[in-house]
Amino acid sequence: MDYAEHVVDLVGNTPLVKLNSLADGLSPLVLAKVEYLNPGGSVKDRIALRMVEAAEASGELRPGGTIVEPTSGNTGVGLAMVAQRKGYQCVFVCPDKVSEDKRNVLKAYGARVVVCPTAVPPEHPDSYYSVSDRLVAEIDGAWKPNQYANPENPASHYHSTGPELWRQTDGRITHFVAGVGTGGTISGAGRYLKEISDGRVKVIGADPEGSVYSGGTGRPYLVEGVGEDFWPQTYDRSIADEIIAVSDAESFAVTRRLALEEGLLVGGSCGMAVAAALRLAKRLGPQDVVVVLLPDGGRGYLGKVFNDQWMSAYGFLPADSSDATVGDVL
Ligand code: PMP
Repeated sequence: MDYAEHVVDLVGNTPLVKLNSLADGLSPLVLAKVEYLNPGGSVKDRIALRMVEAAEASGELRPGGTIVEPTSGNTGVGLAMVAQRKGYQCVFVCPDKVSEDKRNVLKAYGARVVVCPTAVPPEHPDSYYSVSDRLVAEIDGAWKPNQYANPENPASHYHSTGPELWRQTDGRITHFVAGVGTGGTISGAGRYLKEISDGRVKVIGADPEGSVYSGGTGRPYLVEGVGEDFWPQTYDRSIADEIIAVSDAESFAVTRRLALEEGLLVGGSCGMAVAAALRLAKRLGPQDVVVVLLPDGGRGYLGKVFNDQWMSAYGFLPADSSDATVGDVL
């Protein structure tokens, strides 16, 4: 019989798939690493598992303890899943702009969700930051993973994502492309690939236009999970050889093409990363092997990038577009 002992044993070892239609006419082989096939549905399962196990080993997280983190996204799902299996409580603090669907996913795993007003400054006692700090202080046995500063975040990618990419490509990977949020993925997997290849593998960050990584100030953009308005401790500035900035419009257009033409229903940051990978691949040759990491699936974005009204409202589709024209528009 072939089965896993626990769902957490299924984290990682995600497959690579060739991009056919989108990479048509380009010389290099372009491969996508499909992180939505992790059991919690995103790349963040990797960091959740490693941060929790490191905190158990150091004694920061004790049996029956409570994980408190200000997150509503993929990291929350990963933490909630790992906590459920390992018998910890979870309290997530999120701003009120977070959709009910997202909150319900966290609750489904048994997590508590505390909602805070968006329209208050960070120093306000009701802000998302103040409330999470207060909960950590008040709850007995509380532990805050702090994904933006926790070295186990990049370490998880150094020890899992990086070696998987090297093994899966028989050491033939020449370029690794990943979106940058906390920077954990690019810093950890990128460092591993540079070390094992003696610097031969080039590492390319993809960033929303306006974010600090590509020289912006943090101007708002709509792609979720990537880009920042500050420099997190988890981002190692010495790893990326290049950062490619991608507009929301291009990110969302490529995201839709991934579903339409490749059968990959993925999130907007995947379209952003693939847009950067395709731009890069145009300058490369037939010996090159480009791997682009796709962080999550598209189900969480059905009301946004996959919704024609939403896309039209932001000017990403003509206002009169109907379902029948989606493919044509792109
Ligand atoms: N895409 C999505 C959807 C994410 O949730 C994240 C994590 N914030 C990223 C990309 C970027 O990954 P990292 O934090 O490792 O830089």
